[in-house]
Amino acid sequence: MTLSVAKAIYLVLAIGWYIIRIPHERRSRRTPVSRSARGIKERILLSISFTGLGILPFAYVAFGFPRFAKYAFQPTLAWAGALLAAASLLLFYLTHRALGRNWSVSLDLRESHKLVTSGVYTYVRHPMYSAFWLWAIAQALLLPNWISGPAGLIGFGTLYFFRVGEEERLMSGAFGKQYQDYINRTGRVVPRLNSAHPPH
Ligand code: SAH
Repeated sequence: MTLSVAKAIYLVLAIGWYIIRIPHERRSRRTPVSRSARGIKERILLSISFTGLGILPFAYVAFGFPRFAKYAFQPTLAWAGALLAAASLLLFYLTHRALGRNWSVSLDLRESHKLVTSGVYTYVRHPMYSAFWLWAIAQALLLPNWISGPAGLIGFGTLYFFRVGEEERLMSGAFGKQYQDYINRTGRVVPRLNSAHPPH
């Protein structure tokens, strides 16, 4: 593994994620929203996440920026990053497929929104966020730069910690006991080990 290959893997991850999303973005524009928790806070969080997972690593891959923060490339770390990048893309594909028309870039409930609790949603409530965490870790392992590498963890981490509670309140408000039961048998981004209420 060389630095150029590691940079190329980051690009494949970012472009692959975007390609997986395109049909969902198109469809979501046509699917009416019945309730939304979008607002200025969501917009700021999305920008922070986009900067950390997209703009900063791209600036490094394309221009080597910022030069002062680079360190020696570690092939072993990059190999681990490549594996996580592949796992992340697979999980993105599965989560988008499972969410279907209920997908949204932000926090929206659509007309006749269905609560998805099957497929990759069986054991984890936020598998798409698990995929973003995998992306962020992969980025840190692939890019030998103290700023561009960890930027994804900080950027997506900010979005995640400020959004996930609000998202669960939105879902609870819409699905009541059904969502509470779902919370009781699942983990947020990592499957529960000793679930008191195993999924049936
Ligand atoms: N947090 C989820 C989904 C991210 S997409 C994940 O990480 O996989 C965000 C949109 O998905 C929001 O509009 C939210 O209302 C919707 N959503 C979240 N969980 C859902 C579920 N289990 N079923 C259907 N829609 C869901």
